[in-house]
Amino acid sequence: MDNVLNLDISQLRELLDKGELTSEELTTTYLDRIKSVDEKVHAYVTLTEEDAIKQAKKADEIIRKGEAAPLTGIPLGIKDVICTEGIPTTCSSKMLENFRPPFDATVIEKFKAQGAVMTGKLNMDEFAMGSSTENSAFFPTKNPWDLDRIPGGSSGGSAAAVAARMCVASLGSDTGGSIRQPASHCGVVGLKPTYGLVSRYGLVAFASSLDQIGPLTRSVKDAAIILESIAGHDQRDSTSLPMSVPAFSKACTQGMKGMKVGVPKEYFIEGLQKDVETAIQGALKAMEDMGAEIVDISLPHTEYAIATYYIIATAEASSNLSRYDGVKYGFRAENFSNLMEMYKETRAQGFGMEVKRRIMLGTYCLSAGYYDAFYKKASQVRTLIIEDFKNAFKKCDVIAAPVAPTTAFKIGEKVHDPLQMYLSDIFTIPVNLAGIPGMSVPCGFDSEGLPVGMQIMAAHLQEETLFKAAYSLEKGLGLDIQWPELT
Ligand code: GLN
Repeated sequence: MDNVLNLDISQLRELLDKGELTSEELTTTYLDRIKSVDEKVHAYVTLTEEDAIKQAKKADEIIRKGEAAPLTGIPLGIKDVICTEGIPTTCSSKMLENFRPPFDATVIEKFKAQGAVMTGKLNMDEFAMGSSTENSAFFPTKNPWDLDRIPGGSSGGSAAAVAARMCVASLGSDTGGSIRQPASHCGVVGLKPTYGLVSRYGLVAFASSLDQIGPLTRSVKDAAIILESIAGHDQRDSTSLPMSVPAFSKACTQGMKGMKVGVPKEYFIEGLQKDVETAIQGALKAMEDMGAEIVDISLPHTEYAIATYYIIATAEASSNLSRYDGVKYGFRAENFSNLMEMYKETRAQGFGMEVKRRIMLGTYCLSAGYYDAFYKKASQVRTLIIEDFKNAFKKCDVIAAPVAPTTAFKIGEKVHDPLQMYLSDIFTIPVNLAGIPGMSVPCGFDSEGLPVGMQIMAAHLQEETLFKAAYSLEKGLGLDIQWPELT
């Protein structure tokens, strides 16, 4: 039974639909796997074992009736920032440790409508602020390839759980790289869709003009299948795009003949780890061998992206997080003598260091007299970054670059140096500022056996082109899926 752990969604779909495997057997195998390896990896904050078995049994009935949808009976993990009715949704924060949402996020409703199985809720940096999952208020998640290293963040639990085969695929959220960077560090596929393609209803807000939900999977095709399932217009999210959902999985066809791949010179800078560069060059060569044309491009405002992001994201966060005041829901401090003290104590005790740092930075940027100098200026620079991409996509169909300057770093290496941590987001942040889609596709390993991901970006709503390029790269590289040993 253990070898079913190696199969992707399409392969499992076949076995399930033919009756060679039941969802209950599959789900039990995954739950056993979680019990045997999660004590090393620490990807799950909440395991929903009983519900998972119930959902699996229900899925088996749907399958027996011949009414299966693509995700019926497939065990999936969910980042703990996405609301699940009656099931803790903690954002890995003390503030929401006991919060059980009274409703499901739209993406969860969609999973349930298909009869998907939820294995549990996955660890993350507190409120999705971080790049290593060390900012979780509960425990750090380990990288399954090397337990002394971080899995990336903030969707570290989502990436580690897929890599360690503790779920078939998972959902994460990406505000500045939180799906792509952990995917790259854990050797799985991670996609941040175009802003507005997937409903954010029920996604606990960090920076609303940047946040987007997306899949972490073991293959490009799986990412397409999940995106197809979760995308689409939703009246409950005012930024949701009113459009029908393209057949993304049909776009997963091999061949890059004539496709123009732009390589931005600003992404090959000092500080880019040699092994990462080698793996990326290898992937570019594979694209060329498949008939793609590699063109040099420039994204001249890249150097301002981090500063821009850390103003816009913190400003929006300071506003979004003002709701955690101990009044309506979430943590409330116990000892206080008046209302003001209750607010102060609640927020002082309920939030971790990094979240407080962001709230202070953001509040400062938005305060009277500073707004024009910081927030307004950052919004203007954001427009320049959007223009950079628009100009670049006149010359190419997709852009290829590294996801992160290095492979997974050691636990503890950057946690006391926030600026170093922020700088590691340099290649992922511009995509969020521009609202375009970006994907991390595994493209090799460094000399220590740690995975490297190539980032492929496409223009606004050009996911189909993105899938074609990513699928071709995956097949062209022909990397046999490898799994961390974890023994
Ligand atoms: N690492 C970035 C940050 O700390 C991105 C986080 C994210 O995408 N949620 O803000």
